[in-house]
Amino acid sequence: MSRTTLVADHVVIGGHDATVLEPGVVVVEDGLIVEVGAVRGSRPSGAGVVDLGPSVLMPGLVNAHAHAPMMLMRGVSEGHSLLTWEGWLGAIRAKELHLTPDLLAASALVGCAEMIGSGTTSFADQYLFAESYVGAIESSGLRATVAYGIVDLGDDARRDSSLVAAEAFVAAGEDALVDRWIGPHAFFVDNRLETVQAEIEMARAHGAGLHAHYATSTEEDDVCRERYERTALRMLTELGATDVPMLLAHANDILVDDLPLLAGTAASVAIAASVAMISGAHAAPTRAALDAGVNVVIGTDNLCGNNNADMFEEMRTLGKLAAFVERRPNAITPVELLGMATWRGRAAMGGAPGDGTIGEGAVADLIALPTAALHRGPVGAQSVHSALVYGAVGFDTTHVMTGGRWLKRDGALTTIDLPAALTQRQDDFDTLMARVAAAD
Ligand SMILES: [Zn+2]
Repeated sequence: MSRTTLVADHVVIGGHDATVLEPGVVVVEDGLIVEVGAVRGSRPSGAGVVDLGPSVLMPGLVNAHAHAPMMLMRGVSEGHSLLTWEGWLGAIRAKELHLTPDLLAASALVGCAEMIGSGTTSFADQYLFAESYVGAIESSGLRATVAYGIVDLGDDARRDSSLVAAEAFVAAGEDALVDRWIGPHAFFVDNRLETVQAEIEMARAHGAGLHAHYATSTEEDDVCRERYERTALRMLTELGATDVPMLLAHANDILVDDLPLLAGTAASVAIAASVAMISGAHAAPTRAALDAGVNVVIGTDNLCGNNNADMFEEMRTLGKLAAFVERRPNAITPVELLGMATWRGRAAMGGAPGDGTIGEGAVADLIALPTAALHRGPVGAQSVHSALVYGAVGFDTTHVMTGGRWLKRDGALTTIDLPAALTQRQDDFDTLMARVAAAD
């Protein structure tokens, strides 16, 4: 039995509860939070106690839409929108056609290092050849859902081989922290109806989830209205997709009238505000989705498009974008934004109730950063929650723990040799670009 007692000047409980314990104590045992409370009298000390001092201890951040291995191509799509068919085909897909599984593991590790470094404790990933880098993700110690990416693009042979590989991938999962999911790149657009049906059936049969891009533009609705005379979300609902855990990423052009279809289901919408803005896309109707009872979460998307995996920045960006779109300040409050980036994210990934908060029985996924790094206004003028969302930077995080295990401690990564992974990533990128050049 491993037992660690954490003490910090500020402990943000999270969830719907805006309580901050000042100072607070959190006891972690065998990967779970077993005690939480305010410090009364003298601070605990001695063996097994880690006193973080003038720091904020809070639930770890959950990146609900990522493509860690795409760290391989970070930068290549500068100036292109990956949310349009042409932009994705030209900037990314043309290179992906030369990808082989051996080129992705180091980049996935680089992606994990950036997430851990900036305060993320769990993430939902989706990309091609997932079997080739899932081991790298497992070695990082992060909690994750790793979805096997499927793009059929009208090619029967590619669809069949992808479905066989995806099923083998999902069936082989045994890591306690990493769940294996299925990742249709985009329903109906590049995954045809028969493929979508097979993917839903596979998810159901294996107790897995689905992680797909959705409504990055109006493409899905255009296709479904023309072919099936209904909206894409209605199609997905009728096919049973919302009965399994499902992440719909982006939702820039999701129809507000369709939002009630998602309320109370196992599906969640993952907003990627930075990528929507940098791509010149529409802003997702985030406020309307929350009001409709949809579980709305936050993701960074791939770093070719975002260039950043900092979930603090992503919360802040979404907060500003929502205010801009709704034309009123605090259209989404800091407590709501923190909830979307913590407990709602865990719920979207199939976590237990309470996970993503500092509550007894929750998984011990925790982060800490110095109080000074919040650049908070005077006490009484600015809440800790507001300062976390609008003042903090992810890389100021000093401590990151997933399932009771330190992944970053006193500012240093503990599970990843980042210099080695960066060197290998460069070699892998050079290999890929040599293939692309040879094919031109
Ligand atoms: Zn994406």
